[in-house]
Amino acid sequence: MTDENRVKRLIGLIDAKAGAFTDVSDSIWGYAETRFNLERSAGLLSSVLKREGFGVSRGVAGMDHALVASYGSGSPVIGILAEYDALSNLAQESDVMEKRAAEPGGGHGCGHNALGAGALAAAVGLKDFLASSPREGTIKFFGCPAEESGSGKAFMARAGVFDETDVMLTWHPWTETRIWGQSSLANYQVYFHFKGISSHAAASPDMGRSALDSLELMSVGVNYLREHIVQEARIHYAYTNAGGMSPNVVQSDASALYFIRAPKSGQVRRIFERVADIARGAALMSRTTMEIEWDSACAEYIVNEALGRVMYENMKKLGNLKYSDGEMEYARRFTATLQDGSRQGVTSLIRKCFPDIDGEQAMRMASEPVLSEVFPYSMTDVAMPGSTDVGDASWIAPTAQVLVTCYPTGTQSHSWQWVAAGKSPIVHKGLIYAGKVMAMTALDVICDPEIAARAKEEHLERLGGERYVCAIPEDVKPH
Ligand SMILES: [Zn+2]
Repeated sequence: MTDENRVKRLIGLIDAKAGAFTDVSDSIWGYAETRFNLERSAGLLSSVLKREGFGVSRGVAGMDHALVASYGSGSPVIGILAEYDALSNLAQESDVMEKRAAEPGGGHGCGHNALGAGALAAAVGLKDFLASSPREGTIKFFGCPAEESGSGKAFMARAGVFDETDVMLTWHPWTETRIWGQSSLANYQVYFHFKGISSHAAASPDMGRSALDSLELMSVGVNYLREHIVQEARIHYAYTNAGGMSPNVVQSDASALYFIRAPKSGQVRRIFERVADIARGAALMSRTTMEIEWDSACAEYIVNEALGRVMYENMKKLGNLKYSDGEMEYARRFTATLQDGSRQGVTSLIRKCFPDIDGEQAMRMASEPVLSEVFPYSMTDVAMPGSTDVGDASWIAPTAQVLVTCYPTGTQSHSWQWVAAGKSPIVHKGLIYAGKVMAMTALDVICDPEIAARAKEEHLERLGGERYVCAIPEDVKPH
């Protein structure tokens, strides 16, 4: 079979089941389950994968709704990462142009309903191809809980679930279509709990020891620390328990959840040690006791140009996305809900990514209600100011990730607009496109052993002799 026929066949196989994949996306959108509580979402993906002939293990790495679905045998082993968790407090009606929910609850504000379904399309499409033209190679669909909060992939990496994978492929629904060519920030998410002694705040304050004082002293210390850490680091916190609602009580219990981020895991570890020292100092100053409780952590993302370039070539083969007038009009109704200035970021991104475009052309492109173009391949050494547990998987095996247009131009992830537009034909097109790009890239890796070899060589170089060590202590379980 020529390369061209091979690609045509693979695309045809995915198109043949497109309706089933988009139905899965819409169902998971409706379930809107969060963190590790993903029974229906993981159940649906498992049942489809079983029906398609995959061997499915559910409940891996101590998480009931993490799963590995395998097909085929021998090398290369292609990992496809899937997510399906929603965000809390983002319940939203579908297809309406205002923030509106019938009842409170979770919502798919990051498009992980489509992310899981696009990964499913890639795995099933590739399986259908291999079933009719057998070749050596294994597909592993990794169903990963709690990307938004909880770092499911870090627990999976710690348990060795991703070991033996030769390359890892994934995608994310976005507002443009391009290869993800930058690192992300490593992140620790840790609670600090203080315990003091309650007492009447007016009658006997001398008998009390305030846990709220400890929290405030800790914040002061951390805010002084900011000057003495790397520029790109970020420390943010929330008081998850400020001790109560009564000023006339010396608060005996108080807690804060801290996020500590920096470009390298080692930097985060060192900053965390200093933050923990400050917390100990705050406890000493206020005569309280302090306990550290880990929530989760994730590593920085390791880019891989060798694999990313193969993925990019497949995007060029597929070409730009195409939208009907009705779809453009649908997207335009969402862009009309955006604040002034929301296009500026889009314009500067376009100027950065398309070196041949002038300011006027970039502005014109940014004013399209939905971006159909495949962006040129680009990489940057600057880490994006956010974190993802795809980072942990990317330490284990060379990883490529593609962003695909699923949402109207200028809309933001984690917004009501993304939830409201989450079952639209634009999302459906995006997830099928992503499935095709990943399946085509996987097939390239299966047919040409040189690709995985090059990707692995680059991976080792980028790790610079370091090995993956999960930042989450061994005794901390997903919760
Ligand atoms: Zn996301």
